[in-house]
Formats: sequence, structure tokens, C-alpha cells
Amino acid sequence: MNYYSSQITKLIDELSKLPGIGAKSAQRLAFHIINMPQEQVERLSGAMMDAKKNVRYCKECFTLTDQELCPICKSDRRDHQTIMVVENSRDLVAYEKTGKYDGVYHVLHGAISPMLGIGPGEIKLKELIQRLQGNVKEVIIATNSSLEGETTAMYISKLVKPTGIKVSRIASGVPVGGDLEYIDEVTLLRALEGRVEL
Ligand code: ZN
Repeated sequence: MNYYSSQITKLIDELSKLPGIGAKSAQRLAFHIINMPQEQVERLSGAMMDAKKNVRYCKECFTLTDQELCPICKSDRRDHQTIMVVENSRDLVAYEKTGKYDGVYHVLHGAISPMLGIGPGEIKLKELIQRLQGNVKEVIIATNSSLEGETTAMYISKLVKPTGIKVSRIASGVPVGGDLEYIDEVTLLRALEGRVEL
């Protein structure tokens, strides 16, 4: 039954499509938005539109950015010869928060998953191999320790090894199946420092 006006229902509907937002939260958010001052609602919807319009992949590491090159790839304080491979931009942020990694990244935007039909061609692997033709000293594979993450790590190590570039895998201090973004900084640092050469 439609308890609210159709516009409120529509707003609740759209909000409930967001990840982690159930029917109750969607309802709560919808009423919150309706009670917000007009300018605040405009800022919120404007920020959403701007982000959607301007955010794209960094042409070097493929993280999300609103510039051609992200701030990390642009920085001359970073070690551009060390590339850490992560599954997504959230994982990159998790490592950045440790403040202890000074290399650059490569964001795959996924992991190989035969079960979901995601092959090597569906993630940014080709682009990684292209980068290895430059001046690269080490590739650190920091994909998740899930089955998909491990499959991807193995695949990458096989691709990198023949090039003679050092390839390492973050230590397995990261819980199995754990999403990197939920792991605390100390654990991440330990995993990075304890990385093993493949
Ligand atoms: Zn970048």
C-alpha cells in the first residue's frame, strides 16, 4: 500500500537501491532529506551530479579521480618504481591511510572470478602489463585473500615473473576473505612489511 505521496515513495525507492540501505534506513533518510534546508539538498544533489560527471579513471593507475592523473601518480615524492596492485580504489585508500607506503598503485577494478564469469580481460590487467614496460622495480600484489584475490595474484605473478621485475605478495596476516577496507591500519602495515617474494 502507498502510505506516502508518490514523490516520497519514489525517493524512498531510489535510496533503498543503495548498498547497505534497507527499507527502514531509506525511509529515515528520505524524511531527513525532506526536512533539510533547500540549499543543503541542492548541495547534496549537486555533489552527486558533479562527482558522476567528472570522476574518471586516472590514466596511469586507474583509480577514481577528477583529474587526468590522480594526486599520487602526479606526486614526485612517491616512488614510481614500486607498484602496489589492489582490487579497487577503496583498498588504495586503506593503504594510503597507513601513511607508510610511498610507492604508487595499480587499481584492477575487480578480481578474476571464473564463477562470476570475470576473466583477466574484464579487469585492468592489460594496463598493468603495459606499465611494466616502463621503469619498474617491484610489483606488490595486494589483492584480497579471497579465492578470487588469490587467483588474481597467481595470474599476475605468472605475468610479471618473465619480465625479471621483483614480484611480491602481501603477507597473509590479512584475514581470509577479508575485505581490505575493513582491516585496521596496523594489520595492513604488517601485511605490507611482511610481504613475501613470489
Ligand atoms: Zn593514478
